[in-house]
Amino acid sequence: MKLFTVGPVEMYDSTLEVRSKQLPYFRTDFFSKLMLENEEMLKKALYTDKSSKAIFLTGSGTSAMDAVVGQCLSNEKALVIDGGSFGHRFVELCEFYGVEYESIHLDTNETLTVNHLQEYQNHDFTCMLVNMHETSTGQLYDIKMLSEFCIKKEMALIVDAISAFLCDEIKMDEMHIDCLITSSQKALSLAPGLSMIVVNDDFYQKFIKNKKAKSYYLDLNAHLKNMERGQTPFTPAVGVCYEVHDMLEKVLNKGVEQVIADKKCLANYFRENIKKLGIEVVDCPLSNALTPLYFKDGGAKALYENLKDKYDIYLTPCGGINADKIVRVGHMGNLCIDDYDDLINKIREVL
Ligand SMILES: *Cc1c(COP(=O)(O)O)cnc(C)c1O
Repeated sequence: MKLFTVGPVEMYDSTLEVRSKQLPYFRTDFFSKLMLENEEMLKKALYTDKSSKAIFLTGSGTSAMDAVVGQCLSNEKALVIDGGSFGHRFVELCEFYGVEYESIHLDTNETLTVNHLQEYQNHDFTCMLVNMHETSTGQLYDIKMLSEFCIKKEMALIVDAISAFLCDEIKMDEMHIDCLITSSQKALSLAPGLSMIVVNDDFYQKFIKNKKAKSYYLDLNAHLKNMERGQTPFTPAVGVCYEVHDMLEKVLNKGVEQVIADKKCLANYFRENIKKLGIEVVDCPLSNALTPLYFKDGGAKALYENLKDKYDIYLTPCGGINADKIVRVGHMGNLCIDDYDDLINKIREVL
């Protein structure tokens, strides 16, 4: 089996080794130390200041989105970038919790530009919700452009970077990102089950400290209180916490910039070579996390099915109106040039 998916993805050997061990009891000094190191390493990998805080939630990425919208955004007004199914999830969460919002809707393959923002220049918002890489379409948004808008309007910038973290450059403080969400099974290449929220002190003071949780389980203040001593209110996904430690240690040893440069190299290699087969790549700013292949006259679904049935190779299909037009090829996880050479050969055979 080979996964060119967007999560879970091909795990690294060291992760598989960590996963194979007996899980320890977790209300111990040893586990507290591991969690505090996870927090430090995560903040370092995101280039954020010591005064920022990390929260570890046990749940898939949506649990973190849910906690942030439900608790942080009560009595706020959000501008949501609704450019695909993950952007739309923020819209649905605002609806669900009765958060006041307006949204910028993007059509398939429509690039977000400053013109989209201009329309909202004179509307009042207290924050923006955006998925840095809209994984459902492959579009990578220009965070600098968005943060300039947020600074001008004194809005907090809340970024879901679940598939962008470690694939695309993120410097939280430099980019003026106030709250960042990520989770274990995408670019981190770990098992599903753990989500992380990193917030700067400003965001904590304004959007968390005095806000009542809508969910008993996901109360961010309870999580932050426990995290002061490296603990969580309830049993966390203990094994994934160990995987995070192993992965972040390796990432920081190699250097975050190098990790991202390697991903970029892999994505570019695939894009150059797939175009030689006459296959189109969706034309918008792309993340290094995946390449969306565009079949104008259909055939994306058959390609996905054939690779799966004949070779046990998994690409990532699309839903909705693009189900037969777009198929996504992931670059996250333990994949190398040889894997893409093999994939391109198999695609050539199947077509
Ligand atoms: C995967 C993903 C999520 C969360 O999905 P879960 O299935 O809940 O983990 C959220 N946002 C983006 C951009 C994603 O890629």
